[in-house]
Amino acid sequence: MNRVFNFSAGPSMLPLPVLEKAQADLIDYQGTGMSVMEMSHRSPAFETIINDAQALIRQLMNIPDNYKVLFLQGGASTQFSAVPLNLMNKSNKADYVITGQFSQKAYEEARKYGDIKLVASSKDRNNTYIPQLTSADFRSDADYVHICFNNTIFGTKWNYIPDTGDVPLVADMSSCILSEPYDVSKFGVIYAGAQKNVAPAGVTIVIVRDDLIGNSRKDIPVMLDYKTQADNDSMYNTPPCWSIYVAKLVFEWLIEEGGLEARKKLNEKKAGLLYDYLDNQTYYTAPAEKPYRSIMNVTFVTGNPDLDAKFAKEAGAQGLKNIKGHRSVGGMRASIYNAMPYEGIEKLVAFMEKFAKENPKG
Ligand SMILES: *Cc1c(COP(=O)(O)O)cnc(C)c1O
Repeated sequence: MNRVFNFSAGPSMLPLPVLEKAQADLIDYQGTGMSVMEMSHRSPAFETIINDAQALIRQLMNIPDNYKVLFLQGGASTQFSAVPLNLMNKSNKADYVITGQFSQKAYEEARKYGDIKLVASSKDRNNTYIPQLTSADFRSDADYVHICFNNTIFGTKWNYIPDTGDVPLVADMSSCILSEPYDVSKFGVIYAGAQKNVAPAGVTIVIVRDDLIGNSRKDIPVMLDYKTQADNDSMYNTPPCWSIYVAKLVFEWLIEEGGLEARKKLNEKKAGLLYDYLDNQTYYTAPAEKPYRSIMNVTFVTGNPDLDAKFAKEAGAQGLKNIKGHRSVGGMRASIYNAMPYEGIEKLVAFMEKFAKENPKG
């Protein structure tokens, strides 16, 4: 077996103990004589899996009782439509903050459905920072405010939870969910595609406060309505069973490893190793402004696209895979989600030093 360090932004690494557990269960899940992939979602074995997954993520994230956890399909991108269709039901107004490509997409989708205000954008400095906002920046009669908490492509994250007053705050947490503890009670809705930090692609986690369920627009597709999904325990139709099962294993792994406080420390240590190196040399530049640096996606450039391409290629040959930046920004991006071991970052930093020595600039 030869596992590489996979720095992909998503789908991304899964913890080895989780893969091993899934492998052991693959052909005969706990004496059922079948794989979870082959199992009816109405079977007692699968009902236990989805109920356990629900209980475990509630425990991990300390989710209050007045929130539902839904296991949906369609990726985070489907929530770009589901959020306005479910929540934009009183003033038909919503406020958006654009801090990267995914929040831009969410904003554009919402504009189909109502009066959408762009409250702030970090485009003026190429999405390298997060705007500082207070409750006065938001419309007090907006049905909700939408932000993207960690900007996967640009490597920034909100270093505070904006105060939106009584207006529900909706956050796309696709690339940071379970990376550290969050006060769920500060949010109306949290959503996340699983393939960054939770599970294989297929399941989307939606955590929604009870009072935001049941007031959707009349023309909402039944599958997008949080009420349909909440009333049917995420089983209105066939859920993404395998992905939910692996998510459950990941939740167990995180709890065994000490939960989200311990995870935050480890993630800060991992990201810190990389940022400390970046801050103490001049060969590479890290574009994200310091207060807003993501601990999940670390972006850096050499300043020369040919050298960037050479870097990604040679790193790949050393088992440091998928380090090339997003096609829209170039450079490099190391996605260092929960499953990336500390050792992977040590190897990366050693490679960066070596590459800088071997490839002097101009
Ligand atoms: C990857 C990502 C998305 C898109 O997720 P899909 O599940 O592919 O739709 C949306 N938002 C953020 C922050 C992401 O990182």
